[in-house]
This record gives sequence, C-alpha cells and structure tokens, in this order.
Amino acid sequence: MRQSRLFPRTIRREPAGAESVNHKLLVRAGFIDQLMAGSWTLLPLGWRVVARINRIIREEMNAIGGQEMLMPLLHPRSVWGETGRWGSAKDNPLGAKEVMYQFKDIRGREYALSFTHEEIVMDLLRKSIQSFKDLPVSVYHFSTKFRNEPRARSGILRGREFLMKDLYSAHATEADLMEYYEKVKNAYSKIFSRLGFTYRVTEASGGVFTENRTHEHQVLADTGEDTIFYCNTCEWGQNKEIFEGKEGERCPSCKKGKIIKARSIEVGNIFPLGTWYAEKMGVLYTDRDGKRKPVWFGSYGIGPTRVLGALVEVSHDEKGIIWFPQVAPFAVHLIEVKSQKSKVKSFAEEVYNKLSEENIEVLWDDRDVGAGEKFADCDLIGIPVRLVVSEKTGEMVEWKDRTDDRIELFSLHRVIDRLKEMQ
Ligand code: ATP
Ligand code: MG
Repeated sequence: MRQSRLFPRTIRREPAGAESVNHKLLVRAGFIDQLMAGSWTLLPLGWRVVARINRIIREEMNAIGGQEMLMPLLHPRSVWGETGRWGSAKDNPLGAKEVMYQFKDIRGREYALSFTHEEIVMDLLRKSIQSFKDLPVSVYHFSTKFRNEPRARSGILRGREFLMKDLYSAHATEADLMEYYEKVKNAYSKIFSRLGFTYRVTEASGGVFTENRTHEHQVLADTGEDTIFYCNTCEWGQNKEIFEGKEGERCPSCKKGKIIKARSIEVGNIFPLGTWYAEKMGVLYTDRDGKRKPVWFGSYGIGPTRVLGALVEVSHDEKGIIWFPQVAPFAVHLIEVKSQKSKVKSFAEEVYNKLSEENIEVLWDDRDVGAGEKFADCDLIGIPVRLVVSEKTGEMVEWKDRTDDRIELFSLHRVIDRLKEMQ
C-alpha cells in the first residue's frame, strides 16, 4: 500500500475530549474516527488490525467445533418478552431495558437493536432440536452489539455500538455443558496469549445474563476500568464485584500464594447459563428415556474492538503505538527519504515490489514530505519493522525495529530472509 493513497492522513494534534491513550493514539494515527460518544468508524488501518484479531479468534473457535454464521441485529419485542429481558432491572434481576435500544416503527411495532443474542439462538434451537441426537450444538458469529452505556469514555474500549464475537452452545446434560465450558475457557486463553496479552481469568457475576458465576479474561492494564484480585502462585482470581477479602491475604484456593490487587480490562466473558433460557422459551429435546427436557445452554463473548483498544493501552510509548507483529496492520513500514536522485525512488519501488512478491505486507511511505515527518508518522502508526532507503543507504536497506533504537544495514536479500523468518 502506498501511503500517499492511504485514507485518511495522520493528525498532529490530540483529539478534543480524548481521555484515554487508545483514543488519542488510534485517532491521531488514523485507525478510528469518532462519530459521537461511543460510536466509531474502523478506518482502513483499524479494520486491518481487527481483521487480524478476528482471524485468531476464528481459528480457535473453529478448533473447538464452533460453526460460524450470522444473525440479525433488528429483533422483535416478542422474543425478548419471552425471557422478561425486555423489562426493566427495577422489576426483574435480568431485566435489560436500561442497556437496550428499544423503539417503535412508524406503524407502532416494537423492536430492539441487538445487545446480545441468547434469545435469538434459543428461537433457532427450538425450531431445529428434537432429540438428544441433535445435541450438542455450537454456533458463533461476529457482529455489532448496541448497548446504552452510561459512560462511553475510554475510547474504543467502551462503545455504544461495538463488535463482538459471540459463541453459543447447547447440550443435553450439565456435565456436557461444563466440559465444553472448560474447552471454551482454554480456547479464550489461547486467543489472548496469541494476541500477546498478559491476562488473568477471574470469577465474576453474570450481570443481566445469569445469576450463576461466570469467568472473565482480564488483561492487566493500569488504565483499565475493572479491579481484580488474583493469586501470585495459582490460577485463582476474582473480580472486585464478588471478592470479599483483601489484598495481601493468603490465597483461598492454594493457601500458599498471596492475593494481588490490579487494574484490568475485561476482554472476554463466558457464561454457564444452565436451563433458565430453555425453560423460559420452551427449548426442549427428547432424551434417551423418552422424556422432554430443557437444553443446557452457555454463551461466550469477546469484543474485538475492545481488544484493539486494549492492545494500544498495553503497548505504546510517548511516540505512538507499538503493534505486536501478529496483529500489526502491515509487517513493514518502508520509508523512502526523498532525494533529487531518481535512484532512491526506483530502489524503493524495487524493495516494495520484491517484498510484495514474497507476500510481505508493506506500507510504503512514498509521500512528498520531509524525512522528519515520515519518521514521526512511522513511530505513531507503530508497524513493527521500519525500513529506510535514502541517498545515504545506497544499495542497502536500513532496518530498525519499533521497539529498539538500533539501526542495521542489510542487503535487500537479507531483509527478505529476516522478514520471512519472522512470519
Ligand atoms: P463491561 O463490564 O466492561 O461493561 P460486560 O461485562 O457488560 O462489559 P459482556 O456482556 O460480558 O460485557 O460482553 C462480552 C465482551 O464484549 C466483553 O468481555 C468485552 O470484550 C466486549 N464488550 C462488552 N461491552 C462492550 C462495549 N461497550 N464496548 C466494547 N466492547 C464491549
Ligand atoms: Mg462481561
């Protein structure tokens, strides 16, 4: 990609009203744009990163038998009435009126914009599940969620409209649900490790989804909105919402470690929902003994757009973003330092073409601007490897990692080998 064609340009000044690092850097570097509080466009660079995040999530969902599909976002009131979630939290512990966007059309029909999809999946299941032979089922989609968030600060970490990958599973027995629940928990751990995060898994309450305990994947970040407690020795962890002890105490699980208190960003949440939804919505199957029984249900969510923001919160410096290679929008940022000599231009073009032929994705800064501006934008955008060709470097290419100040000179051949080793 030629940077002279890239939409839009980077921005020098900090966006007005930006409080969080991800908001400031992602907007300035041209990854996202704010339409209104909590509502964001993923610009071409941002969409590239989200596509990489989604690819990692998709691979791990497919590996545990999840089948990808796509469900609607416009839902009739009737389906939400069946579980009572159309109603207010004031009247019913799972009432979700406060978070849903509900409205009437011109003929007075009532709808909601999707804030989650349990009821929609239940409606699908009751049309297709007959016997124990039809179970288990595991389906997921990537789609937009709408939530009337009272505090839509924190940049793209908290949208009123945001992307979610939500997986749903249905089972004949509680044991089968819980076995699958553990598989999803492990798949989530793989995803967040692959994404490069340092995280903890914590027990948490179920909000407007369930009265059961749930598990969250929490990325450790000083700027996070959540507070968690975890053991420095074993896997034990709990969200502040449900933890009753204090920092520094002995771990209630292994009895050896100490409890640490930390700020964090919730990136994933898994819910063992049980039979509550199936009972409310009549999702029954015929068991081996001929009896009709409600299905056991679980739901599992990750927010890819929140992940985008969390990556920036945990990996940046005073100059800009520092992408981990597995999610970077491009593998290489090629800087052509403008010169009177046409040699530099043609060598830059050669480097660009050779790398492209090797399927290495390159952002080529071919713009008519000074070297200082190019280097500043390069650090701001945060691609892992910077290559420079200039009059000074001649037939060689200058290599610098985003995380390192060291500069090395290599032949183009060597550059290609090194980049291929990194892939
Ligand atoms: P929070 O406690 O941060 O408000 P939640 O617990 O209400 O989030 P879940 O219903 O558990 O959210 O959603 C599953 C995942 O979707 C979350 O772990 C997070 O990654 C993402 N997510 C939830 N709300 C938002 C939001 N407003 N903006 C962006 N991503 C979100
Ligand atoms: Mg949650």
